[in-house]
Amino acid sequence: MRRIGVLTSGGDAPGMNAAIRAVTRTAIRKGMEVIGFVGGYDGLIDRDTMVLDIRTVGGILQHGGTILKTARSERFKTAEGVEQAVQTLDFFGVDALVVIGGDGSFRGAKELSRRGIMVIGIPGTIDNDMGYTDYTIGFDTAVNTVIDAIGKIKDTAIAHNKITIIEVMGRHCGDIALYSGLTGGAEYIMLPEMEMDLEGLYEKINAGIERHKHHCLIIKAEGVPISNAELAAYIEEKTGQTPREVVLGFLQRGGSPSARDRLLASKMGSYAVELIEQETGSRAIGISGRELTAMDLDEVTDIKREADLELLHLMYSLS
Ligand code: ADP
Repeated sequence: MRRIGVLTSGGDAPGMNAAIRAVTRTAIRKGMEVIGFVGGYDGLIDRDTMVLDIRTVGGILQHGGTILKTARSERFKTAEGVEQAVQTLDFFGVDALVVIGGDGSFRGAKELSRRGIMVIGIPGTIDNDMGYTDYTIGFDTAVNTVIDAIGKIKDTAIAHNKITIIEVMGRHCGDIALYSGLTGGAEYIMLPEMEMDLEGLYEKINAGIERHKHHCLIIKAEGVPISNAELAAYIEEKTGQTPREVVLGFLQRGGSPSARDRLLASKMGSYAVELIEQETGSRAIGISGRELTAMDLDEVTDIKREADLELLHLMYSLS
């Protein structure tokens, strides 16, 4: 293996740059060359490349986003798009490709793998929605961003005795809501994996009111099937109080990666190059406890993530 391609795809996540840096520097130290493709799979189709060497990946470790840019490529979902991508890899003499992204990006990577290209997937997504790995790169930073916001909202909620609905990211996976709810001291959380229990929510608010606690922070993942306005209307009807609504949105995607995400990205990026050196075939890198794992890329995208019910119980016993 002489030349490695790298791209970032799908939703960006803090720590992607740390992974690019780790792949590049490990590969160069092993005598390989690295070529970056700009803008996810679109960069493969359009032959949009970036030189990656020891210097160009300097000073990026601490930055969110991705120097390689990212995209959701509709063209790559077509057979012609995949064929063009394969031709590009051939044109540049790329022996193996590292794809840093989420579940969708891994599905795309499988298409390349089926055409005989060795692809290593590094899980980069703030949602932590990949069932085969304990953690994905970017999740820890996003949770830290959310608890910082929760802390600020909590100050004013307590001062004004306000019920506040905070919507966080997570369409199918409620891990951001769960971890930030627990560590940010929310009163109630709503996850897409849970049955919606509005009665239970009202009882929780009411129990607080009976104890003369008039503020209540509700963390709701975006995938919960009730709009913030509908939820606010329900609470208003039951309590007579108009809740505040805050949608944290894209601020959860940005920011300097946490130490934990930088560490995970550095380990995974370096491991990707080791797997390429060993010519293992296409793999998805994950982490289980303290151990890095390398599963067959074909197998990982169908592994569904289950919500951690123990954490959920802990959250409620402490709130
Ligand atoms: P994420 O990787 O964050 O989950 P997406 O789901 O948007 O983000 O996927 C990123 C990109 O991966 C898509 O825009 C598309 O180019 C590619 N992709 C996703 N699913 C497939 C598929 N089944 N076949 C080919 N490419 C796919």
